[in-house]
Order: sequence, then structure tokens, then C-alpha cells
Amino acid sequence: LVASMEQVEETYIMVKPDGVQRGLVGEIISRFEKKGFKLKALKLFQCPKELAEEHYKDLKAKSFYPKLIDYITSGPVVSMAWEGVGVVASARKLIGSTDPLQAEPGTIRGDLAVQTGRNVIHGSDSPDNGKREVGMTANIIE
Ligand code: ADP
Ligand code: MG
Repeated sequence: LVASMEQVEETYIMVKPDGVQRGLVGEIISRFEKKGFKLKALKLFQCPKELAEEHYKDLKAKSFYPKLIDYITSGPVVSMAWEGVGVVASARKLIGSTDPLQAEPGTIRGDLAVQTGRNVIHGSDSPDNGKREVGMTANIIE
């Protein structure tokens, strides 16, 4: 069977502070559950500044980086590890484009957000980053 030869991956999904504050956690979890992925770990916590900086270290040179760190640390987040075949790319599809105004209707950002700086959710962009980001928070969320 082709499917059995595919790699089981894990991805790091984080409902950002605006998503938690707006009461969108259940809606977001529901979309991943209905798709058929497996929830491996979950925790509500206040992201420490050091962890936010480590998580977004590739964006350090961007002009919006200081605001991004302020945003991510502005209130509790819900961090999750999800597992499944193809989960990294599929989660990115479910999430939609970074700019919610460009995100397709039917995606999480397309349905639930308008601002790039308040775009509700994070999802890992590669299987390697999925492992890295889940590993980074394993001591906190598992
Ligand atoms: P994604 O979350 O879709 O992978 P990026 O990795 O490019 O997007 O950026 C990480 C996060 O930084 C975005 O989700 C968003 O919260 C924020 N961000 C990206 N670009 C901008 C921008 N131009 N202005 C403000 N915030 C931004
Ligand atoms: Mg990204």
C-alpha cells in the first residue's frame, strides 16, 4: 500500500493569543480532528519571551520581528503536537496564507482573521521544523 510507505510526520500548531482570547480554540482543534489527524499533546501556557525568540529566530532580521514577539507573548497560547501522514503540508493548507485577506475562504485564517499581525494560528512549515518546534516545547506541553 502506498499510504503505508508515506512518512508519519508531526507538526507544531499554536493558537496565538488573539485566537485564545477570541474563543477560537475549540473551532481550530475541531478542524484538525475532523480532517483525521491525531492530537499528541496540548497545553495552554504563557509563552516566555526566550521561547518566542527561539521559535521565530529565522525572522529576527524582519522589521515586524519585535512586534511579533510582543504579540506572541501578549497572552496565553495553546500549543499542540499533531501527528499523521502528510500532516505538515496539510495543516498549512488548513491554516491558509499568512495574510488572512489573501487566505482562501474555508481555511482557518481565511474564515477567522483579517490582519497578518493577528492571524490566529501558527503551523510548522516543514517536517524538520515540525520536529524542531515540537521538541522545543516538549518539556512544556507533554
Ligand atoms: P506563517 O505564520 O504563515 O508561517 P511567517 O513564518 O512568514 O508566516 O511569519 C510568522 C508570523 O509573523 C506570521 O504568522 C505573522 O504572525 C507574523 N508576520 C509575518 N509577516 C508579517 C508582517 N508583514 N507584518 C506583521 N506580522 C507579520
Ligand atoms: Mg512560518
